[in-house]
Amino acid sequence: MLTNMQARDVETLVHPYTNLEAIRSTGPLILERGQGVWLHDSDGKAYLEGMAGLWCTALGYGNEELVEAASEQMRKLPFTHIFGGKSHDPAIELAEKLKEMAPVPISKVFFTCSGSEANDTQMKLVWYMNNALGRPRKKKIISRMRAYHGVTIASASLTGLAGNHNDFDLPIAGVRHTTAPHYYRLAEPGESEEDFATRLAADLEALILAEGPETVAAFIAEPVMGAGGVIVPPKTYFPKIEAVLKKYDVFFIGDEVICGFGRLGTPFGCQALDMKPNAISVAKALSSAYQPIGAVMIPEEMYQAMLEESRKLGSFGHGFTYSGHPVAAAVALKTLEIYERESIFERVRAKIPQFAARCAALEDHPLVGEARQAGLVAGIEIVADKKTRHQFDPKLGFAAKVVAFAQDEGLIVRSVFGDAVTICPPLVISPAEIDELFDRLTRALDRTL
Ligand code: PLP
Repeated sequence: MLTNMQARDVETLVHPYTNLEAIRSTGPLILERGQGVWLHDSDGKAYLEGMAGLWCTALGYGNEELVEAASEQMRKLPFTHIFGGKSHDPAIELAEKLKEMAPVPISKVFFTCSGSEANDTQMKLVWYMNNALGRPRKKKIISRMRAYHGVTIASASLTGLAGNHNDFDLPIAGVRHTTAPHYYRLAEPGESEEDFATRLAADLEALILAEGPETVAAFIAEPVMGAGGVIVPPKTYFPKIEAVLKKYDVFFIGDEVICGFGRLGTPFGCQALDMKPNAISVAKALSSAYQPIGAVMIPEEMYQAMLEESRKLGSFGHGFTYSGHPVAAAVALKTLEIYERESIFERVRAKIPQFAARCAALEDHPLVGEARQAGLVAGIEIVADKKTRHQFDPKLGFAAKVVAFAQDEGLIVRSVFGDAVTICPPLVISPAEIDELFDRLTRALDRTL
């Protein structure tokens, strides 16, 4: 029986990434407030937030400094755009801060409102750059199967998940997908991780050669794949991939929308994985999700080409009304200040061994095939048979059942592609709360048996 608010919800709202039929009878979980890593629903029940919202509320809930930064900026100047030469202090200071933090040489910053818009912008900038450089045929973008890069037409095309393409008539022309670095599922019998990485780099090279290197503009990758099931690549994967990209002059876009800002214990995920992208997309933890904001971090060579093209055309013809929104920029700036002042990334590093050990212990559970983990993010793959690694019928959604039992146990986790349960708590989770999270998840797994 739906409550009054649940009934009003299903009569009016279309929920993203939701079974639109099922929710009509179950209704949504209506959350009312949050404090630290705890959420409370409208009946007052408490839930441990095991997903940082959607991989984003890094500083947890109820952070008064962020609230204050937003309200102060709202009072002072709630909005001005930055088109045609206007600007404001928060956008300037945030761009400066991102440049200073950048793990690779970055020349300029372009603001968006989301990760999808950042990756969409990346794709446009690559095309724009290659037109400026006089190579109009070099336009294809290679992504990876199981990647998640967003939902706009371009970024959903980069996403390598069938559910994002089916019946949306995607991907668009010019986007290709290469093999995902998922050793547990895709390694040949007896193949070492090193050999697996070598084979994946060879797969990429074969794809570039089949397409024609003169037509391949860029490659995009998350350091650790998130929504594709938390896929952690072998250690030497990125250096091997990068050697291929260099050989064929293919631009490398790093999607740091989940891994950026401490998730792997380093400021950017690429620093934990020996990955050196040319340009970077960020969003989510940039503002700890207190405001919607993303950014494209642009290297000098790309900026010079953009400058050239805009000289020719009279203007750089791209931008969102809310690019560099002053309230979002002020909140992001405060978020970055808190990360630094409170040594959040160092404190994440100290918590990783405990998180990793609790995660690894889940592999003893009869339902768990692989417990993948990097930093404070994990993907628990559910299998019907541990030996053969066979999965349950994906339509039965076993991970979704675990998630439902977890919710009953007062824990929020998420099920994603590949019948995996994902865990991505706020970075500020305490050691006692990490134990509580895994205790509750284990009870949920036991109840699913
Ligand atoms: N890139 C990655 C790696 C993501 O995980 C996401 C969202 O989960 C996106 C891009 C898209 O970001 P948004 O949902 O803010 O558009």
